[in-house]
Amino acid sequence: MLGAPGAGKGTQASRLSRAIGIPHVSTGDMLREAVEAGTELGQKAQVIMEAGELVPGDLVTAMVIHRLGEPDAECGYLLDGYPRNVAQADALEAAVGADALESVLLLEAPTEPLVERLVKRGAEVGRSDDIETTIRNRLEVYEEETAPLIDYYTSRDLLLRVDGMGTVDEVFFRVVLALAE
Ligand code: AMP
Repeated sequence: MLGAPGAGKGTQASRLSRAIGIPHVSTGDMLREAVEAGTELGQKAQVIMEAGELVPGDLVTAMVIHRLGEPDAECGYLLDGYPRNVAQADALEAAVGADALESVLLLEAPTEPLVERLVKRGAEVGRSDDIETTIRNRLEVYEEETAPLIDYYTSRDLLLRVDGMGTVDEVFFRVVLALAE
């Protein structure tokens, strides 16, 4: 699941993983849990996450590969927030094989509604990286680091584009339709 911060990746991925019965593997959630638990990884990640930068790819990749080795991921998994750049995409491909990914869903949304959504989420959920300066930086990091994955996965013929604007139900319907086509 690919998309800018606030595009609805987490919401749609969690719903889709429940619908099709495969685990939702969110690197953002896993890193937040590590921060919460105060692990070595969490301690390294905390400041970086609060600044809206990317946690070093080798750490995140090791975490993901370990997670994908769990028994519940044997029949498939839904990645959310990973890979975040071309280096991570290459590392993933090297680890799971070029044919392992079935499709890459891109949730598309214009920038301004994203900032609004994230500021609102910050107030509601209390996520420490959902404050406006960090949000703008996360959007910049997305453009610089993650957006190149659109071409990367288009060239591998894996990319499915989904309009991320609208209600959760509307977007979910489009997601299911895109996967079914
Ligand atoms: P997310 O919940 O996906 O928006 O991620 C929240 C934050 O966790 C990001 O702003 C990054 O600091 C960090 N993060 C999540 N996934 C990755 C990743 N694949 N690579 C590096 N940092 C990540």
